[in-house]
Amino acid sequence: MIYRVAIPTPLHRLFDYRQPLNEPPAQPGCRVRVPFGRREAIGILVSIETTSEFPLDKLKPVSEVLDQTPVFSDDLFALTRWAASYYQHPLGDALQQALPVLLRQGQPARFAHQTLWHTAPDATLEAITARAFRQRELLQLLLEHPGGISADALRAEGGDPALLKSLQQKGLAQSFEHHPDLPHADLTDGVIREAPLTLHDEQAQAVEAIRAARGFSPLLLEGVTGSGKTEVYLQAIQSCLERGQQALVLVPEIGLTPQTLSRFKARFRVPVLALHSGMTDRQRLDAWLWAREGSARILIGTRSAIFTPLSRPGLIIVDEEHDSSFKQQDGFRYHARDLAIFRANQLKIPVVLGSATPSLESLQNTRSGRYQHLHLTRRAGNATPPVFKLLDIRQQTLDAGLSAALISQIRSHLEQGTQVLLFLNRRGFSPALICHDCGTPVDCTRCDARMTLHRQPPHLHCHHCDRQTPIPRACAQCGSSQLRPAGSGTERVEDRLQVHFPDTPVLRVDRDSTQRKHALERIMQQVHQGEPCILVGTQMLAKGHHFPKVTLVAVLDADAGLFSADFRGMEKTAQLILQVAGRAGRADHPGEVVLQTLHAEHPMLNTLVHAGYEAFASEELRLRHAGYLPPFSHHALIRAEANRQGLAESFLISLRELAQQQQLLPQGVQCIGPFPAVMEKRAGLFRAQMLMQSPHRPALQHALPLLTGLMQAHPEARRVRWSIDVDPIDS
Ligand code: ADP
Ligand code: ZN
Ligand code: ZN
Repeated sequence: MIYRVAIPTPLHRLFDYRQPLNEPPAQPGCRVRVPFGRREAIGILVSIETTSEFPLDKLKPVSEVLDQTPVFSDDLFALTRWAASYYQHPLGDALQQALPVLLRQGQPARFAHQTLWHTAPDATLEAITARAFRQRELLQLLLEHPGGISADALRAEGGDPALLKSLQQKGLAQSFEHHPDLPHADLTDGVIREAPLTLHDEQAQAVEAIRAARGFSPLLLEGVTGSGKTEVYLQAIQSCLERGQQALVLVPEIGLTPQTLSRFKARFRVPVLALHSGMTDRQRLDAWLWAREGSARILIGTRSAIFTPLSRPGLIIVDEEHDSSFKQQDGFRYHARDLAIFRANQLKIPVVLGSATPSLESLQNTRSGRYQHLHLTRRAGNATPPVFKLLDIRQQTLDAGLSAALISQIRSHLEQGTQVLLFLNRRGFSPALICHDCGTPVDCTRCDARMTLHRQPPHLHCHHCDRQTPIPRACAQCGSSQLRPAGSGTERVEDRLQVHFPDTPVLRVDRDSTQRKHALERIMQQVHQGEPCILVGTQMLAKGHHFPKVTLVAVLDADAGLFSADFRGMEKTAQLILQVAGRAGRADHPGEVVLQTLHAEHPMLNTLVHAGYEAFASEELRLRHAGYLPPFSHHALIRAEANRQGLAESFLISLRELAQQQQLLPQGVQCIGPFPAVMEKRAGLFRAQMLMQSPHRPALQHALPLLTGLMQAHPEARRVRWSIDVDPIDS
């Protein structure tokens, strides 16, 4: 027998091995250890064959079969294989990425008898001299976890587990074996812990529609922020739990807040597991096992959670389905929302896509009748929708991006005792440092981009390649010392606000201010105390969080995406504006949303703020239809990069010519480009791209592996790095 094995390599092919002697045949979906070149690799057995294109005596035997039962259930195996083929990604690597890290490394798919550490009964911090501060720190961490903590978790919290032995020798710490079990759920009184809310009409209809759904049913739940989508999810999940099934909930990367999780945990008695980036590899494997054996009943996670095994799947929910974090942006470029649809189809279960601002793809799917469309048009409880205002800033002098009119509005809201949120999607102090004498900006040497000035601590930072440098004293062009910041980022806005409002706390929320552990939590706590304050932040503020005391939301630069080269720029702008606006006036405080703009007459901006998202989306869909753009055509973007200018572009030109000569492109599949990328040089590489477009997905899918084959065989492929992005969400 021949084992056909998928091994994580960049090659788009499988590898044949001989079945190990005297062993019963393994099942497809099991891991195998195999000799691979000069090393060993762990691969997945894909199929068992009787013939190979290689002579049998040339095949090496599999060294070891690692699993008795497949680590890939039938549905996950089919999902991952489909995804690898659809997104043109090598199967071995795709399968690998669908598994928890410890399984990739060949660890057994079993719960570990984990070694945990705790303090000895009468250990105190005083037992360690202040000079041994690393040991003291470790002991402090142990004291904070009286139930025991693993070495991995200690490391994750900043402790040095190498010092555990010293603590043990001093009689201060002890280890013990722990068998991780989920807390046993007593469900004799039902799955509910905390009584559900009484649904308003629209919610009741939505829950009823989801409950009534049989078999594969995709539903789009479009509900304005605060309309109670989460309550709909909860009650739909309740029915699923009562049938003894599991629910999988996907949330955006920054949507998995402690508040979200606690709402699920407060409602149900069943084990709720979050899959997040802060987990150790061991914790991830345990969660994976709990999901697979069915003891975890609700799984909440980001993109990669779509690959969680489920023994009794009943419902999949994708919250904020329009969010771009569901699309993986490098390597295996899958879209978790689209995989959720595929998986639900296979499992014959309902899948709910929820959003206040659905993607145009999903909206079009409701129009064509493929998805059922559910609406929540009103806010739940007493909350009133916010009032929008376009604030024309033409001919106004701005103070670090703030108009005088806005500053006086901020003042009046603070005087009423409420909170204010300012949104600016630019971190740092200033997006450019420019010579006042000759006008030359300080550019990144590795990118076609300006260096961003940061004040805390003072340095220049390229947000595209991460290059960091000290702030130069003089202009490299003319030697002048008059280098000045141009434009504002969140740090500068924070600075100016503190000058205007010296007695009000100004809290900045961006990647820089929240780098330290618990920093974001501390900021959120302060906001939730409800005293007047000003929040200034980026995207991080736009999602997931609820700010009941915020009554004024201002978007400092509403124009940022209006004239983008990306045809999705307008859609993204609209979604972002509404997401930010959704933070205002959530409880009993009516909210006000101010958009600073230089284009107060912009038709789409006006449609959005005066007629709402649905009207906006209809208009945008009409334009997409007229322009023959997705969702009315299908795209795959071929990107190439090389360390010399022109190389990537000529590689793509040659690819196009070869494809045309060999007539590889089916009718209707169009090549657009190649063009240099919008930012041609990034991180020292010159980039170009070519767009493949087709009205028919199957025709495009037919062409892509042929193009992949051409690129792999191309003599220039050694000097050019290329990739294919199917259904790209940016260009
Ligand atoms: P969304 O997810 O659509 O933004 P949420 O589910 O977070 O909305 O609901 C917003 C607020 O309204 C929450 O505080 C929630 O407790 C409350 N809420 C939701 N549904 C109801 C209801 N039927 N009756 C009263 N309050 C509700
Ligand atoms: Zn100069
Ligand atoms: Zn750079």
